[in-house]
Amino acid sequence: MFISIRGRVLINVEALNMTESVGNYVKHRRVPVLLPSTYTTYFVPAISGESIAHGYQEVLAGEAKKNNIPVCKLCERGIFLKSTNESVFNGAFGKKPPKDEFEFEKEVVSNCIVEDVGGFLYAPRAGGNVKRTSNFYTGYMIPVKEILESIVIEPQLHSRYALGTPYVAKGAIGQMIYYVELSSAVYTFSFDLDTRFIGRATFVYGKVGESLVNNIDERILVTLDSVKKFLTEMMFGAKKTRFLPVVDWESLVVAVADDVWT
Ligand SMILES: [Zn+2]
Repeated sequence: MFISIRGRVLINVEALNMTESVGNYVKHRRVPVLLPSTYTTYFVPAISGESIAHGYQEVLAGEAKKNNIPVCKLCERGIFLKSTNESVFNGAFGKKPPKDEFEFEKEVVSNCIVEDVGGFLYAPRAGGNVKRTSNFYTGYMIPVKEILESIVIEPQLHSRYALGTPYVAKGAIGQMIYYVELSSAVYTFSFDLDTRFIGRATFVYGKVGESLVNNIDERILVTLDSVKKFLTEMMFGAKKTRFLPVVDWESLVVAVADDVWT
């Protein structure tokens, strides 16, 4: 089954994806986007696919735990190191990595649905890489074309105030200001999910498609439930403890097909 989701979502006063701090100034992510009518490039606020993927995998880890489907020790805490090397594998699964490539993929997939659905890359120093491509696809959320010419990013002034407390030495500065860049836009949203290889081998050429687990249907159901929760609760983006944005979906289309459909 291939599921393709496309949407438009109005997000006001958001700081969902910041890139760096320069002194006391925190910058919003910007990307170059071409206006289709004039081919002029605009640098506009954006929310990265990595940010969306992180949010989805956190939901997936939580839903899987509730349904007693295995999640490794790192993914269950939202640390998606994804079996990077021997020590990460050991930390995630509490054992040594298998030498055989097929056995390695089987061990990871059967013991962690996040790496089953979201892929991993095992790249130990001594060689012997094993790679699994993610079964879901997402990308940058960017402002829709109608607003590309009018979009703004605005630094908002905030301050931390400590005057009158014993922690400010006489004559020292008791108030520090800082800026956080905010933006408001109607953003595009895209997310595809291909269930063909969930719970199945992908790496060793001769064994592609072989079942690695005996609960594939259950895993697909949890994966789909996680997409639903992810969309309805907008579980992506950072800085939401003090910059929780005002969000309103304008439209959302979900296409389901038995083959690739985007
Ligand atoms: Zn994991």
